[in-house]
Formats: sequence, C-alpha cells, structure tokens
Amino acid sequence: MHTATRCCIVGGGPAGMMLGLLLARAGVPVTVLEKHGDFLRDFRGDTVHPSTLAILDEIGLRERFDKLPQRRVDHLSGIIGGREQQIVDFRGLEPYDHLALVPQWDFLDMLADAGREFPAFDLRMRHAATGLIEENGRTTGVRVQSPDGGYELRADLVVACDGRHSTVRGSAGLRAREYGAPMDVLWFRMPRRESDPQDTFGIVDRGHMMAMLNRNDYWQTAFLVPKSGDAALRAQPIDALRESVVRLAPFLADRRDAIESWDKVSTLSVQVDRLERWHRPGLLLIGDAAHAMSPIGGVGINLAIQDAVAAANALARPLRSGGVIDEPLLSSIQRRREWPVKVVQRVQIVMQKRLISRVLEQSGEPPRVPALLRFLLGFRAVRHVPARLFGYGLRQEHVHMPAA
Ligand SMILES: Cc1cc2nc3c(=O)[nH]c(=O)nc-3n(C[C@H](O)[C@H](O)[C@H](O)COP(=O)(O)OP(=O)(O)OC[C@H]3O[C@@H](n4cnc5c(N)ncnc54)[C@H](O)[C@@H]3O)c2cc1C
Repeated sequence: MHTATRCCIVGGGPAGMMLGLLLARAGVPVTVLEKHGDFLRDFRGDTVHPSTLAILDEIGLRERFDKLPQRRVDHLSGIIGGREQQIVDFRGLEPYDHLALVPQWDFLDMLADAGREFPAFDLRMRHAATGLIEENGRTTGVRVQSPDGGYELRADLVVACDGRHSTVRGSAGLRAREYGAPMDVLWFRMPRRESDPQDTFGIVDRGHMMAMLNRNDYWQTAFLVPKSGDAALRAQPIDALRESVVRLAPFLADRRDAIESWDKVSTLSVQVDRLERWHRPGLLLIGDAAHAMSPIGGVGINLAIQDAVAAANALARPLRSGGVIDEPLLSSIQRRREWPVKVVQRVQIVMQKRLISRVLEQSGEPPRVPALLRFLLGFRAVRHVPARLFGYGLRQEHVHMPAA
C-alpha cells in the first residue's frame, strides 16, 4: 500500500467519488479514503438533478446510470391546505427534462466501479482520516486509521469531501458561518401500493409538512418537525407519529403500523452553514464539508458534484504535470463555486423562514397558496424557475479535461 499520493481525497460521498473519478480519468494518481466499508446508508438523498445527468453524459456514464434502479420525476406537486398545486416542472427543459430518484449507494457504487477502471484510482474503504499532517504551515498529508492500524498518507494536495461533520474542517480550524434552520427531518419508509398516487409530492397542512418520494415499492417519507422537536416526539408512543402521518396522507391509514417503532425512524438534523475560507495551503474543502445545505430542493448531492467538477477542471493539469498547487488556484475554485452556493442557500433560508417556520408554528387555519401565486404557477414558464434554479444550478459546470 502506497503511503504517498499526488492527491488525497477524504470522504467517498458524491463529491469525493466524483472528484476521485475525474482526476484518475485525467491520469492523476489519487487516493480516496472512505471510513465506511460500503456505501449502503439509508437514507442519504436520492435526487439526481439535470446538472448531474449532464456530467454523467459528458464522461460517458449515462448508459450505466440509466440501468440503475430509478424513478424519473418530471414535475413536483404539493397538496397545500388540501388543494393540489404543481410547483416545479422540468417538462420542456430538454435534454434533461426530469430528475432521477436513485438510491445513493447504487450511484456511488457506479462511480467507484468507473473509477477502478483507471490505474491511477486508489479507493480505500474502511480507512478514516483522523487528522492532518502539517509542515511549515502547509498540509502535507493525513493521518489514517484502517483495519490494519494507523498510518500516514503524504499528498501534494488534500481535498476534504468528508461531509457536514467534517473531521478535516475541525483539524484545519476553519470557521463556518451558521445560518440555522427551523426544522429537523424524520425519515422513514411506508409501503407503496399500485393504487397510490404516482407522483413524488409534498403535503403541507396546519402545523405539519411531509414529502413523499416514490421509490416504486415504497415511499421514502420525510416528516418535518420543529428544530430539536425530535426528542419530545420520540418521548411519546410511536402512535403519535402514525396519527400525524395519516392525518396528512389519509391513504396511508391501512398501513400505519408499517412505522413499527421509533427505531425505524431516523433523524436528519438540518444544518445550513458555509466556510468563510474553503482552503489553506495544501488543503481544499468542497461539498458539504465546505457548505452544508438545507434539504429544500434536494440540491446537496448535485452541488457537491458541481464542486467536484469545478475542482477537477482547475486541478487536473497542474496535478498531472507535477506543478505546485498554490493558494490562488485553490482560491479560484472557492470563488467559482461560492456564488452559486450562496444564492441557493439564500433561497433556502428565505423559504425556511417564510414557509416552513410559519407552517410548523401554525395552529389555526391551514396554509393557502396566495391567489396571485396560484395564478402564476398555472404557467409552465413560472414552474420552470425553481426547476432551473434547483435542477441546473446558477453556474452549471462541465467537464473540461479529456480522459488520459
Ligand atoms: C437524511 C438525508 C437526506 C438527504 N436528502 C437529500 C436529497 O434528497 N437530495 C440531495 O441532493 N441531497 C440530500 N441530502 C444531502 C446530501 O446527502 C449531501 O448534501 C451530499 O451527500 C453531500 O455530499 P458530500 O460528498 O459533500 O458529503 P457526504 O455525502 O456527507 O459524504 C461524506 C463521506 O465522507 C465519509 N467520511 C466522513 N468522515 C470521514 C473521515 N474522517 N475519513 C474518511 N471518510 C470520511 C462519509 O462516510 C461519507 O461517505 C440528504 C442528506 C441526508 C443526511
């Protein structure tokens, strides 16, 4: 096992796997460290947006991707105060007129398999980074814990893609600005029947919000609770949750017991933050490690991948030619990606304050879509606005380096 590499990527999530694949494809020796033994962690988000579909096309993986178990969604609707309302519409936004709901583990397995086809790609599962190695103010590698013991891995560049609880972020002492969130999300599965609605949709009613993702034989269900309200709810019998769910979606009444116990319900503590500086000499952070996103719009995976593409475009040549990866280069990656991330986070924060907080606090009348907005949402061009913002992003990245 090598103890030195050109680029060490910490974390094999969407950002790390895509960056590892793109660099190895460009001929850069790269080692990806992933602390888990597989990618099978339900639930981590499924929404593969047009921006990611375009990247898969550009690197020749679209055919493989299309063979993964998935469901295509071309529009999203909400049942708001008992009235159905279409909100997001991808139809007509060719060539990617849908988003794909794909289990994240299948997606990551596909990227890992594609990476292994390149000799420069070294993926080490069950290898966790425990800290950074610093010399003269520069990161020169990472300390790693593996099933065979600890070791040091030297690298000319370390890229942290280790997610919202980033170990590297902590070790590097980089500061994040926290934007807060009024809600946490409870995730669980409900069986799906043929007679159920076909669409993936959201339900908003007095005091409650829920999103249901159609995963063919079951609904992946997200139930919003006020921030830190999870503990109070869990102190009650599981029936409390079952009742709230059935009140929002009466068609689930015949299978309410499918939520067997609180053990079957996992909690996502929603976090929105962004690092002020995404880099230090010898170190870059991207994806959730640089900016944890709110679940609104299902953008997390896709922005992580856009970051990875931007980073690979900037880094592949200097890394391959043995050049120095200096601070201005790393800073240019932050400048390129920070703006689109900022805008999406801004929109998410406004939606959290204006919509989600109000709904979760509300005890009186059920919420209503204002008449003017309902009128405007009758036009596909208006429904295209969120589809473009969340589906394509504000600065769409394309793969610029050819395969080696
Ligand atoms: C419950 C839930 C639901 C979500 N739903 C959606 C959704 O529907 N759509 C969407 O787009 N986004 C969703 N997200 C967000 C999305 O999963 C993240 O934004 C996205 O995965 C970020 O990718 P990433 O590669 O930056 O980080 P992550 O996906 O968090 O990957 C980080 C990786 O690093 C590994 N790791 C961590 N520490 C170390 C270490 N010290 N050493 C080695 N490896 C390490 C982790 O095991 C993990 O594999 C959801 C997130 C959660 C938790």
